[in-house]
Amino acid sequence: MPLQTAAAKESTMIVAMQDQATEENIQHVIERMVDLGFNVHRTTGTQQTILAGVGKPTEFDVTEFKVLAGVQDAYRITQPYKLAGRKFRPEGTTITFPNGVVVGGKEVTIMAGPCSVESREQILLSAQQVKAAGAQFLRGGAYKPRSSPYSFQGMGVEGLKLLREVADMTGLLVITEVMEISQIEVMLPYIDCFQVGARNMQNFNLLRELGHVRKPVLMKRGIAATIEEVLLSAEYILSGGNYDLMLCERGIRTYETYTRNTMDISAIPVLKKLTHLPVFGDPSHGVGIRDFVPPMALASVAAGADGLLMEMHPNPDKAMSDGAQSLFPEQLEKLVAQLRALAPVVGRTVA
Ligand code: PEP
Ligand code: MN
Repeated sequence: MPLQTAAAKESTMIVAMQDQATEENIQHVIERMVDLGFNVHRTTGTQQTILAGVGKPTEFDVTEFKVLAGVQDAYRITQPYKLAGRKFRPEGTTITFPNGVVVGGKEVTIMAGPCSVESREQILLSAQQVKAAGAQFLRGGAYKPRSSPYSFQGMGVEGLKLLREVADMTGLLVITEVMEISQIEVMLPYIDCFQVGARNMQNFNLLRELGHVRKPVLMKRGIAATIEEVLLSAEYILSGGNYDLMLCERGIRTYETYTRNTMDISAIPVLKKLTHLPVFGDPSHGVGIRDFVPPMALASVAAGADGLLMEMHPNPDKAMSDGAQSLFPEQLEKLVAQLRALAPVVGRTVA
């Protein structure tokens, strides 16, 4: 049964402006939308401005908007996700990071590193190896959502400081998981991208708060979430005004037990069709077995992924979490070389 939400019945409108529309035209349309009770979200692509009206407007007639000066088209959106829908940004979202790395463009982004930050020595070596392999981001959890309360829970702020230090030393960006609202402020000075883990994909209070920060977020698919639920969770972040959002397929629970999860490669092209947001694949949590990570990484890129998030550890046998799915450094290096060869087939590049 597809999820039916109240939002699905709500009236939401997209107004696509003409390429040559003036700022005055745009402001006039925004005023009319606000008068009707819409919250207006504005996005400007290379030429075209698109206005999305969400909220609970009084009755309205789209044809009234179609005839306003500078308007190319106006229509109601019926899907329950509005700002996440591709129509809001037909050409796709790109996110530019402080060092110039662009996510969602032609180049496939590689994020790699250990599951957890364990020590200065471990994370520094990881950063050096990840950089040498060709990645742009260093990953590593400082706050860890462990299935058991007796497992290693992460280094906390100390881990954040270490991530920042070694990323700056090696010229990498930092992505790390946020588990609760109180961590957001603490994390901001140290990180380049928040990771929302599978277990928190439906932590709506956390998502709402992340909608108010001005730092990119990568949100993973929940372990039993449908694609529509992923997009509705994305909507929580986007509706707060944070449009710098990436989605990530990381495997779902199925009846299969041989692999840790079932990597749903099909979710990647489906998401690419439904949303303008960059889509990542996390083959590490997707399969949970090291030797199957490279083929699933290649499959993700072949399926249209804009990036990969992968676990690599300098010494996986000694890892404090997820060692079995962590690549050896040389495996990551070999994989990136294969990705470089594969990417052009699907019109992409790998740095
Ligand atoms: C992780 O990236 O280490 C992690 C905990 O991932 P997930 O939320 O996908 O389980
Ligand atoms: Mn992990």
